[in-house]
Amino acid sequence: MTDLIRSWVDSANDAQCPFPVNNLPFGVFSAGDTPRCAVAIGDHVLDLAALQSAGILPDHGFDQPALNTFMEKGKGVWDAVRQTLTDALREGAQTDVLRDALHDMDAVTMHMPFTVAEYTDFYAGRQHAFNVGSLFRDPANALPPNWLHIPIGYNGRASTVVVSGTDFHRPKGQLKGPQVEMPHFGACKRLDIELEMGAVVGTPTKMGTSVSVDEADDMIFGYVLLNDWSARDIQAWEYQPLGPFQAKAFATTISPWVVTKAALHAFRCDTPPREKELLPHIKDTGPMLYDIDLSVTMTPKGGAPTQICKTNYNTMYYSAAQQLAHHASSGCAMRTGDLLGSGTISGPDKGMFGSLLEMTWGGKDPMTLTGGETRTFIEDGDTLALHGHAQGDGYRIGFGPCVGAILPAND
Ligand code: MN
Repeated sequence: MTDLIRSWVDSANDAQCPFPVNNLPFGVFSAGDTPRCAVAIGDHVLDLAALQSAGILPDHGFDQPALNTFMEKGKGVWDAVRQTLTDALREGAQTDVLRDALHDMDAVTMHMPFTVAEYTDFYAGRQHAFNVGSLFRDPANALPPNWLHIPIGYNGRASTVVVSGTDFHRPKGQLKGPQVEMPHFGACKRLDIELEMGAVVGTPTKMGTSVSVDEADDMIFGYVLLNDWSARDIQAWEYQPLGPFQAKAFATTISPWVVTKAALHAFRCDTPPREKELLPHIKDTGPMLYDIDLSVTMTPKGGAPTQICKTNYNTMYYSAAQQLAHHASSGCAMRTGDLLGSGTISGPDKGMFGSLLEMTWGGKDPMTLTGGETRTFIEDGDTLALHGHAQGDGYRIGFGPCVGAILPAND
C-alpha cells in the first residue's frame, strides 16, 4: 500500500478528503465561462487548460469541454500527464501559475466529463442476478445457465447519460398488471436505482479485431460511479425476449470525476472463486477488480438522508477488463468514450443490495427511513445518492457525488 503524497494544497492532506494527490481524477468544469478539463485536488479544481496554455502540459485538448481527445491518446500519455500533475501538486512545488489555476470546487459547475460514445450495461453481480432471477422468474432456476460463462449485457442509450446533479422527470411507458388483459400507457410506479461502477474506455479498437483481457485492461482510462435508473414495471412487461429497452433508456447518472486506473492501482483485487472455468478469451490474468467501498443514501424532499445500502465493488463476478474483452470478441468496434456499466453491485446480505427491487423484495417488504416515512420504490421529490471511495492507509481515493432527484412525470 502506498502512502499519502502530501500537497501544498492543504485540504488535500486531510485523511477524509476524497481528492488527495494520490487520486487526481479528471473532469470538466466551468466557472461562469467555457467548460474545460480539470483535475480535483483537495477542495479545489485545477484548470488543465491554463496549465496547457502555460506550457506546463502538452496540448492534449484540455481546453475542450470533454476528455475524449486526452482519453484516446492511451496509457503512455495518461501516465506522463499524471506524473507532471503529481510533481506540480507535491508539497513545496507551488508557483504563481499553479495557484492561479486553482478554483474553489464549491464555486464551479461540473459538466459531463467525456462525450459518451456508446453505453453498454452488464449484469455481473452474482447476488443481484440471483435475486432478480428469483423475483422475475423462479428461485429454483434463478441464475440463467449462461451466466457463469459469459458477461451478460445489453446495449443501452448514450443520449441520456447525465452528470451528477441532473434531476429528471419520472419516466412514462407501457405498463401491464398481471391481473388485467390490456396494457396502458402511464407514469412508472416502480422507479428504482441500480448501484454500479462505470468503466470508461480510452483507446479504441478496430471493427473485426479482438483484444486480450490484459489489452482490454490497458484500454480502460478510469472509473466513475454509475446509477442505472430502472423502471421495474416497464421492464417486467417489455423485457422478453430481447432484454431491457425503455425501462433503462430514460436516464443514467454518472459521477463528475473519472478516477483513473492508475489511482486505483493500489486497490486491485481478484474476482471471487469460480465454479465453472472461463473460456480463454475472458479468463482472469491477474487482479482487475478493485476494493471500493460503496453506499447509497435516499433523502425525501425536505427530509434527512438514510443510508439504504453498503457494499463493495470487490464482490463482482466479472471485471470490466473481462467485460471489455468479451465485448470486442465478436469483432465489435470499441470507441473512445464507451461507457461500460458493471451491473448492479449487491453483496450477499440484505443491507448490501444495490437496488430497491432487492431491498424491498419486489415491493413486498417496505423499508422505513430515518424520518419515519416508508418506501418500496422511489417517490417524486426523493433524492438518491451513490457514494464510493477506496480506503488507503491515511488517505482515500474518492469518486465525488452521483446524485439525482426525481421530478413528477410530465403531462
Ligand atoms: Mn444495470
